Amino acid sequence: MTTTFTKKTLGLETVEPALTPPSATSPETSFAKKPKMGGGKSRKRVMPDGLASKCKRCGTMLFNKELEENLKVCPHCGYHMPIGARARIASLLEPGTFEEMDSEMVSVDILGFTGVATYVSKLEDYKKSTGLKDAVITGLGKLGEFEVALGVMDFSFLGGSMGSVVGEKLTRLIERGTEKGIPVIIVSASGGARMYEGAISLMQMAKTCGALAYLAKRNIPYISVLTDPTTGGVTASYATVGDLIIAEPGAMIGFAGPRVIKDTTQSELPPGFQTAEFLMDHGLIDAIVPRKDMKKQLIEYLEFMVGAEKAPASAA
Ligand SMILES: [Zn+2]
Repeated sequence: MTTTFTKKTLGLETVEPALTPPSATSPETSFAKKPKMGGGKSRKRVMPDGLASKCKRCGTMLFNKELEENLKVCPHCGYHMPIGARARIASLLEPGTFEEMDSEMVSVDILGFTGVATYVSKLEDYKKSTGLKDAVITGLGKLGEFEVALGVMDFSFLGGSMGSVVGEKLTRLIERGTEKGIPVIIVSASGGARMYEGAISLMQMAKTCGALAYLAKRNIPYISVLTDPTTGGVTASYATVGDLIIAEPGAMIGFAGPRVIKDTTQSELPPGFQTAEFLMDHGLIDAIVPRKDMKKQLIEYLEFMVGAEKAPASAA
């Protein structure tokens, strides 16, 4: 008995999906209990997990390999999907030049915070799922001919939230940039301050901005790159005090979410509110730069801000 069933099931799965409907009408068989692969409805190719993703904006199925080669930008509609910090660094810096700083710094649960889960268990989960230690990677590297101090946030680690580690790593990065006299670039992607660290996370806003003030005193440029989404305490601190503030197309940028603002102000929000394009029209953002042009544009900006004489390879 058992063996016959196994064989029949295998046959249905692989060769003849057309046989599925009749089997569903005979409830006594074991087939009725296990409707396979959407009950024969999806006779189209079913993509195995991890091979392809659907574009959130236009719905096109895209091979992950193709998507990664295109820096996670949909080739059909130009939608900029989230990209990990490591991939972003690789897309910006010259290969092999990145020296990571403070790679072992990890958050501690100062408040003994417990919500649905404890902060400690959340941290462990995200460390495992992302391979990161916290929501930012910082270090020095070469962007074209320029040595830069680069910090890149990763939204996949606890929503890119800014806690003591994000604040401390970025502050050290800015201080290193100040010491060495090299430009600082921070690429933000964040849901805001990290609730699990309470006031400690809010203090990071003042700390990072304090360090940036010293950088500014020495006339060293700071470029802030805003990506989707940049919100909360990050928007309210280092992300929006750049000498140059640039954003990726379509990025959601704001402090509080649109629903909160609507409820608080009791008024309709204008169309496109909190998008990079809207904020560019209203003067917060200096430029919108597609991901594939980001490196080239940053080099161009640095040539303008630092001066081409600092770049040895440029014509002199
Ligand atoms: Zn698309």
